[in-house]
Amino acid sequence: MNFKLSEEQLALQKLAGDFSRQEIEPISDKLDREGRLPDDLIKKCAQIGLLGMTVPKKYGGTEVGNLSCVLAIEQLAYSGSGAWWLVGFNNSIPESIANFGSEMIKKKYLKSFCDGSAYASIQFTEDETGSDPAALTTTALPGGDDYVINGMKRFSTFGAREGYAVTYTKDENGNCTAFVIEKGREGYSAPKIWELMGGGGMEAADVYFDNFRVPKENLLGIKGEGMKILLSWIAAEKIQQCAAAVGIAQAALDEAIKYTRNRMSRGRPVSGMQGIRWMLADMQAKIEACRWLTYKTAFAQEEKASSWQTESATAKIFVVPAAMEVVEMSRRLHGAYGYAREFKIERLYRAIAGCASIAVSLEINHSIVGGWLVENR
Ligand SMILES: Cc1cc2nc3c(=O)[nH]c(=O)nc-3n(C[C@H](O)[C@H](O)[C@H](O)COP(=O)(O)OP(=O)(O)OC[C@H]3O[C@@H](n4cnc5c(N)ncnc54)[C@H](O)[C@@H]3O)c2cc1C
Repeated sequence: MNFKLSEEQLALQKLAGDFSRQEIEPISDKLDREGRLPDDLIKKCAQIGLLGMTVPKKYGGTEVGNLSCVLAIEQLAYSGSGAWWLVGFNNSIPESIANFGSEMIKKKYLKSFCDGSAYASIQFTEDETGSDPAALTTTALPGGDDYVINGMKRFSTFGAREGYAVTYTKDENGNCTAFVIEKGREGYSAPKIWELMGGGGMEAADVYFDNFRVPKENLLGIKGEGMKILLSWIAAEKIQQCAAAVGIAQAALDEAIKYTRNRMSRGRPVSGMQGIRWMLADMQAKIEACRWLTYKTAFAQEEKASSWQTESATAKIFVVPAAMEVVEMSRRLHGAYGYAREFKIERLYRAIAGCASIAVSLEINHSIVGGWLVENR
């Protein structure tokens, strides 16, 4: 067992940290208020190698792997903005396509995710279903050389941006079938972008398909077996969310240390009080546990360990609530100022809230792990 990150991983971590501090942190408050990423951010991310980290080099990726990807996400999420989702999606979604797509699909679409010319989206949630994607109602029915898609998708991150999406449908046999679709083509509209509580820049859109035609060759994986692809993507997404939660929690601890060192009580910094130091120590312990569990799970994914999808649910059950506790402790240590928008902790508090619900709620993860324990152990 080796707990040391490689030279390349450390270099990528530093690169992403510098990028986060220089490019993301200064605009994070604006992102929260406006809810939209700057148009040039995707190219900037591509230029420094943050996109396509999990995509083979022959399709335009850097192939540095899942652990490197979570190291970068942790650094980007430190800002408390939603910019990390861009890096998350332009890694996890092309990875799904690389794992399940035909040679034609891989050659046609992967490069543009890696060079920043396409925003990646995934579309499974609908107005009537989120936690239970098996209940989706959007249909894809054969029509000549195409499939014709009708229905709607809710909260499709970057669904209104130019690029490609992996869209989950019900085929003519009532089974889940996935397609790689070109967003914005005739029959595709994304009229609503949700205003969110935090994570500024996530750009979650409602998407409508009205006789949208997709060539049969754009079917991803095996017809009727889309659920397998979706579950694998969701498992990957959870690890990314754990990494983001670690980054947000680390920022919360750093803010708490800074604040309590400067906040005076009876002529002395409150950081001198034992009770406050114990809280800081608890936060540090939780973050370390979360960080290493996240890295270990990303490593299991990279190694394609048979248990990695259950491990990702296990990690989310522990990491997200622990990170939320850390952020809440930091907010309390800020006193009343923790409730004010001028202080970064307020943004972090709103940012962490989404991790418990997006891409499978904590409750569902408990059901996954509990079911696995009872049925397989
Ligand atoms: C900002 C944002 C971005 C998003 N991005 C995307 C995206 O890009 N693509 C996409 O497809 N979706 C996206 N989503 C949707 C998100 O993944 C779903 O909202 C999420 O899966 C939860 O579904 P739901 O809201 O329908 O919850 P529901 O399924 O309505 O659940 C409501 C409550 O009931 C509980 N519950 C439901 N079923 C069970 C059960 N069987 N056992 C125990 N408890 C249960 C849940 O845990 C939850 O507490 C996004 C959402 C947000 C807010």
